[in-house]
Amino acid sequence: MEVTTNDNRHLTIGGIDAVNLAHKYQTPLVVYDVAQIKAQINAFKRVFEEQQVAYEVSYASKAFCATAIYQVINTLGCHTDVVSGGELATALKAGFPAEKISFHGNNKSIAELEYAVKSDVGVIIVDNFYEIELLIKVLREQNKNTRVILRVTPGISAHTHEYDQTGQVDSKFGFDIDSGQADKALEQLLNEPNIEVLGLHAHIGSQIFELGGFELVGQKLMQIAKHWQDKFGYETKVLNVGGGFGIKYTAEDTPLAPEKFVEKIIQVVKKQAKELEISLPAIWIEPGRSIVGPAGYNLYTVGARKDIPGHLPYLAVDGGMGDNIRPALYQAKYAAVLANDPKAKIQETVHLAGKYCESGDILIDELALPKTKPGDIIAMLATGAYGYSMASNYNRNPRPAVVFVENGQAKLVVKRETYADLTHLDQPYL
Ligand SMILES: *Cc1c(COP(=O)(O)O)cnc(C)c1O
Repeated sequence: MEVTTNDNRHLTIGGIDAVNLAHKYQTPLVVYDVAQIKAQINAFKRVFEEQQVAYEVSYASKAFCATAIYQVINTLGCHTDVVSGGELATALKAGFPAEKISFHGNNKSIAELEYAVKSDVGVIIVDNFYEIELLIKVLREQNKNTRVILRVTPGISAHTHEYDQTGQVDSKFGFDIDSGQADKALEQLLNEPNIEVLGLHAHIGSQIFELGGFELVGQKLMQIAKHWQDKFGYETKVLNVGGGFGIKYTAEDTPLAPEKFVEKIIQVVKKQAKELEISLPAIWIEPGRSIVGPAGYNLYTVGARKDIPGHLPYLAVDGGMGDNIRPALYQAKYAAVLANDPKAKIQETVHLAGKYCESGDILIDELALPKTKPGDIIAMLATGAYGYSMASNYNRNPRPAVVFVENGQAKLVVKRETYADLTHLDQPYL
């Protein structure tokens, strides 16, 4: 994994000395290189513009949700996805325009739907029949209109290195196609004067490396669009193909540039539009991981070490599964470097252990490092997606601070939790 260093041989992030950041803001610390976030979004946009199709890039904010990221996304004119009332509240508080928000979820509560409708969110991505019922009720009560996109289960599931075009009919998300549920949902929605149906949505998975799944989803959604045109005279205006573009976590990962997936999707959709003789819909994408993942770094301080004869040593840092549960949750792999001198000669392989009371709290199972000592700073790379957003207070550890760096400046965008924060919801019993 490539990293940059300065004259002190220290790791730099967005031109800033990572060891200085760790000392100034303390560790564990989450750092984002904002220029990298913007570059990826601009790469997505460029592909759409070169191909001259109507589009939206909608940042899937569950990957990293905080006021500051919504502000950055908004400066680039993008949309954002939210999946809960809490994400919606954060986006609105950040000043994100409601009309550019899409609201996802397979079990939106009535309170969440009321909040979304009251706030005039741009699109509600409708997931099931119960939600249609609730939404109609809420719209009538508030005497409001809304735009919706229908989420379907395309019967395609994709995992890192494979995809499957028959699997995943058995999913909790979206309307089934073959049994006629999607048709029935469209019919219900078209009959509602308060609802405008913008189009169709599918999301086939995450950390996907293969183009094949996206080709299939483009084809499948266009076939549905054609079928809806023939059966209902309905014209699909938006084809939302979801996110899931894979990123490089370790040297073994060799993903395509995320915008290459988009290029493929556009080609497929254009070809289908011509063949099926239907109009070309706008294409919306919902990248999360590919926008914030590679731009994020987790900084930790080295503490205890345990050497066991005949086994790899355990090198413990001051964070772990509370700030990044992905290794413990699904054996996610990461790379890390010694931020004090990333290019120093490798001397040993260690288990990089967290500080949480779980044997499974190992951040990196086998990490090759130079010699380290307590107080050194370790930087885990590409931690920007589903790390901080899944952070917990397990063992009552405060969640880390988050810093954005850009143009040689660092700015604290989420404060570190304090012990007072940890007990502020507690109420005495005795
Ligand atoms: C999680 C999610 C995304 C983003 O997926 P990434 O793998 O982070 O790009 C997009 N759309 C939907 C509906 C999602 O649930």
